[in-house]
Amino acid sequence: MSSTLDRSAVQAPLNVWQMAQQQLDDIAEIIGLDSSIHSYLREPKRVLIVSVPVRMDSGTHRVFEGYRVQHNMARGPAKGGIRFHPDVTLDEVKALAMWMSWKCALVNIPFGGAKGGVVCDPKNMSLQELENLTRRFTSEISIIIGPEKDIPAPDVYTTPQIMAWIMDTFSMQKGYSIPGVVTGKPIAIGGSLGRDKATARGCLYVVNEAMKELRLTVDGARVAIQGFGNAGLHAAELMSAAGYRIVAVSDSRGGVANPKGLDVAKLIAFKGETGTVAGFSGGEKISNKELLEYECDVLVPAALEKVITADNAPRIKAKIVAEAANGPTLPEADEILHERGIMVLPDILANAGGVTVSYFEWVQDLQELFWEEQMVNDRLRRIMERAFRDTLEQARRLKVNMRRGAYAVAVGRVAEATSLRGVYP
Ligand code: NAD
Repeated sequence: MSSTLDRSAVQAPLNVWQMAQQQLDDIAEIIGLDSSIHSYLREPKRVLIVSVPVRMDSGTHRVFEGYRVQHNMARGPAKGGIRFHPDVTLDEVKALAMWMSWKCALVNIPFGGAKGGVVCDPKNMSLQELENLTRRFTSEISIIIGPEKDIPAPDVYTTPQIMAWIMDTFSMQKGYSIPGVVTGKPIAIGGSLGRDKATARGCLYVVNEAMKELRLTVDGARVAIQGFGNAGLHAAELMSAAGYRIVAVSDSRGGVANPKGLDVAKLIAFKGETGTVAGFSGGEKISNKELLEYECDVLVPAALEKVITADNAPRIKAKIVAEAANGPTLPEADEILHERGIMVLPDILANAGGVTVSYFEWVQDLQELFWEEQMVNDRLRRIMERAFRDTLEQARRLKVNMRRGAYAVAVGRVAEATSLRGVYP
């Protein structure tokens, strides 16, 4: 096969989709990817744009725009969340779908990458309107989803309840229960034990490996965590239980720090009562900016994108940065951290625990045989440790940072599967 890539369309400023394509171009050059496969992987396999008419509480109808993008399915059915957000764009969904292909390949689970989104403002919709939207969107995309084709999951502003409505709508259309069509479901209808803490647990497992690699001692190692939601709160809880000392945490309203260690159980209770960690009396007040530069051994960005920049990267004190959030580090900052000898565990590695346990949920649904939580956690640990080793090995072999190492493993696997399957017809 041979073809040439047309890069003429890529001009500054880049949007998120062009950025994702550029990351692929970068790694393609490093690993010497065949140009035909490269051009194949540069575009999504399938893009579905749907109009979603919804009966609103007022009795009128509103039409929302929704997307489901499948990037690559050479390694198995596509997998990826559904985002309900006013700023969702098709380009963003395409980028997220491509990143899901790499993430699933890095942890070596038999899935391709997909993502979905609906342009809507769920914070200003009633529960009934959200249910109507979810059910009609599911119905519109049901022609391309299914347990053997494409399996959605939660993402920004989509919840286990929304997953339950997706499962029910799809099942009603087929006439029988099909729990394997979606993951992140409530336990009562086929969800997996351990799914709620899976992202944080996966992050803990790869940080443990990095600590071993850098010959650092876990007991008492200082951790700063930005974001105290699903990923951040559970990371604090699990890392503290594993012997780490949580010295700083923050959320959208501010942060709190204590070099001797925060009492995590009390902090979680405080967050439960007040909705924030800001104002917790067990430490001193710090800003989100200060948190990133706080004296610590491990920094866990678990909130927003683009928080580690060329400006603050020279002042980051941590020896390990574990990206529980997606895209917290800008490319210029990446280079600075690498030059300073700081090990960055990239998002497609550090937060892949979530999709890994989603895979376990799908397997349990298909087999109708449910596992104990210990089995979920043990299998997750083995997968995360192997992904860490594969990433490190590739980074060393190619003499690149851990992010490029992870991309080299992931893109290499998707390319191999795509090439082996060949082009039909
Ligand atoms: P969440 O909504 O549960 O929590 C987000 C947290 O970030 C909240 O505590 C919020 O207060 C905080 N936050 C918001 N703005 C902030 C700001 N300006 N400064 C500091 N903190 C701020 O979300 P989540 O599920 O924990 O996701 C967090 C990140 O992890 C996202 O990038 C997400 O894509 C990524 N991630 C999550 C999962 C998962 O399973 N939850 C899986 C993979 C990746």
